[in-house]
Amino acid sequence: MMVRVRIAPSPTGIPHIGNTRTAFFNYLFAKHNKGKFIVRIEDTDRARFVAGAEKAIYEILQWLGIVWDEKYKQSERVEIYKKHAEQLLEKDLAYKDEGAVRFKVPGSQEVSWTDLIGNKKISFKTDVIEDFVILKSDGFPTYHLANVVDDHLMDISHVIRGDEWISSTPKHILLYVAFGWQPPVFAHMPVILGPDKTKLSKRHGVRSVLDLRRDGYLKEALLNFMALLGWNPGGDKEIMDINEMIKLFDLKDVNTNSPIFDINKLDWI
Ligand code: GLU
Repeated sequence: MMVRVRIAPSPTGIPHIGNTRTAFFNYLFAKHNKGKFIVRIEDTDRARFVAGAEKAIYEILQWLGIVWDEKYKQSERVEIYKKHAEQLLEKDLAYKDEGAVRFKVPGSQEVSWTDLIGNKKISFKTDVIEDFVILKSDGFPTYHLANVVDDHLMDISHVIRGDEWISSTPKHILLYVAFGWQPPVFAHMPVILGPDKTKLSKRHGVRSVLDLRRDGYLKEALLNFMALLGWNPGGDKEIMDINEMIKLFDLKDVNTNSPIFDINKLDWI
């Protein structure tokens, strides 16, 4: 199987270290497997759009040398999503609700997948999932529809993302089934925590990679530091250059526990 992975950032703000780490792990996985790394801007939520965010996403990737093989932008693909929503309407798997289109969640089923991080089975009962919107009344798709349609059409083999998306995955799997498509392999990475063990945020004084660059950190150090946020190549190896990281990277060595962001570690590197 050809490995094709993607990051799917929404331009709703300047990417934080968590998003950037996700990008880097996708990149390492792609390069290790001689696959492709794709950037897809998920800009279909017009209400949350932040000017300058897309530029910052590319600036960060470029500075770090996380080079993409292909790039896409969802706002240029709206017709594709509409067409797919119509397919589900025709098959009676979705219905109109005040100008929006909702997916009909089948009752009394179990949806499950084996997550590559920790190799564990995750299941949800469909009874706890309500009929969700796939196309909004402004004609734009929701995240769920656009994400699934694109992951399929772009031949994504592995979806590697933060574990805050786990609750979306059963909805995605239901959409794959409705379309008659094979879902990709899912790998949900534990979210990064601050030193006080709560979800890393601005409160912890940690900002974006652009701020860290301004503070004078070298990109080589940042890449090395980010790699160690959740990945352990085994042994006590800690200082690595990019080629070494590509050579050693394996999703089975990504920890199932949340990594703790420690600025002293970055300083040390
Ligand atoms: N647009 C989502 C985000 O902002 C993508 C999540 C995913 O990778 O599916 O991160």
